[in-house]
Amino acid sequence: MMNKFRSWLVRFMAGRRGTDQLGVATYIAGLALYIITMLFGLGLLSFLPLAIWGYGIFRQMSRNLPARERENQWFLSKYLPLKKKASQARVRFKNRRIYKYYRCPKCRSWLKLPRHIGEKKVTCSACGHQFTKKA
Ligand SMILES: [Zn+2]
Repeated sequence: MMNKFRSWLVRFMAGRRGTDQLGVATYIAGLALYIITMLFGLGLLSFLPLAIWGYGIFRQMSRNLPARERENQWFLSKYLPLKKKASQARVRFKNRRIYKYYRCPKCRSWLKLPRHIGEKKVTCSACGHQFTKKA
């Protein structure tokens, strides 16, 4: 029975996209919105999570793979930079007692100096701008 179902599922999903990163984000966003509408008694808006999940299921079942791939690439182009920024911010927070973090006044890159080092002449590793900084 289980094997029959599994082979049916394999045949059913053949040529379809399945879950990609945008798919996962769609389900998480739908769930978060569902919780918010429940918490705040916004019953009228409860069709929104359903619409988002519906879109996720549509994408999963779709056979138009190039279009779904384009959507996923668009999503990744927005999401990956945010993810990188968040992980860099976590590192800065973790090391906040060891390093003083600051931005290059010219190119806005993040730089760091060991704390209590005093006044230092700094060369930005990204753009080569030189300036003095106290840490
Ligand atoms: Zn710079």
